[in-house]
Amino acid sequence: MTSIEQSLVGPAGLALAHETVDLMGRHGVPVTGENYEVWISYRLSLNEKLRDAVESRIAAQLPFGEDVCGELYERFIANNRVSAEVVKASERIARDLGAVVTAMQASAAKSDEYGKTLETAAIKLERGLDSERLKDIISSLAAATLDMAAHNRGLTDQLQQSTREVEGLRASLASVRADSLTDALTGLANRRMFDEALVMRMGEARAHRTELCLLLVDIDHFKRFNDSWGHQTGDQILRFLASAMCQHALPDHLVARFGGEEFVVIMPRTGLATARSIAEALRVAIQSKRLRRRASNEDLGQVTISIGVARLQPGETAESLIERADSCLYASKRGGRNRVTTDGSAELYVA
Ligand code: GH3
Ligand code: MG
Ligand code: MG
Repeated sequence: MTSIEQSLVGPAGLALAHETVDLMGRHGVPVTGENYEVWISYRLSLNEKLRDAVESRIAAQLPFGEDVCGELYERFIANNRVSAEVVKASERIARDLGAVVTAMQASAAKSDEYGKTLETAAIKLERGLDSERLKDIISSLAAATLDMAAHNRGLTDQLQQSTREVEGLRASLASVRADSLTDALTGLANRRMFDEALVMRMGEARAHRTELCLLLVDIDHFKRFNDSWGHQTGDQILRFLASAMCQHALPDHLVARFGGEEFVVIMPRTGLATARSIAEALRVAIQSKRLRRRASNEDLGQVTISIGVARLQPGETAESLIERADSCLYASKRGGRNRVTTDGSAELYVA
């Protein structure tokens, strides 16, 4: 669970949600799903620019009218939209929390009323009463207490419901995050996940002084293939390559779609010789496979891939590592395709 998700669950999450709804109330912002998303993002400091925009309006005592709220949503939330699921969950939660806040306000009035009933009874009792009047007071106390208990039960139910909604939101966020890191066509990690993972793995390699290699794979003449067989058959090839790459990679390697018909493998704790032999085995496996069109069983011939392999150098940035792998890939293309080029060496594995 990320720290953001953690702050959305349990009693702390509920308190945060209440604070957010209160904050919105103080600034005259209606509790709608969209507005709630803006303000919870602001409360969680998810976006610096959003924070600046909100705080500068608060500092200048400018109102948050409907148009301003709409603009904040469009600028900072809609454009960063990951999924409609989050909006739906936020709407449910905002509705629910609005009801809880109303119930709590009513509850304060109810407690006051109950307090007054008790006070009146106490005064009367102090004065001394006959048994008839005592009976009356006790029955009015019993009625008020039952009323208060029923009211509190309602409130507890509502709070439990809100807690469930917050849990639901947490689960939605988790699944949205998983979706936002996966390439829909191949099921591999997508570019975003790759970028995050590369920085993380490079940090580990540096901290533990271990090796790390990066493989960049590009299908040869894929445009031609698409033109001959159609985009859908092209997609079938992308899935085939993705699965072959997963089979060749070691368990702690990360295979990702880099974009279009290019794929990458992050290979932590892997030296150049191992990386090169995995790349070579993959290249041979791809060229050896006779491909058939799924729908018609037509023979599609062969597809080949070109690969560039770079090893992380001390002090190097992620961009530079990718660039070097890309130069190696380019060398493989220039050298005639269907080959592996590793950096820092003239060795070429040619078909
Ligand atoms: P090279 O050997 O130099 O890499 O030639 P190429 O034709 O593979 O390279 P180019 O960059 O000219 O074309 C890449 C093609 O990849 C263009 C596009 O049709 C195809 N492509 C990119 N993404 C997808 C996809 O998601 N599905 C399909 N079917 N094709 C894609
Ligand atoms: Mg390409
Ligand atoms: Mg290509």
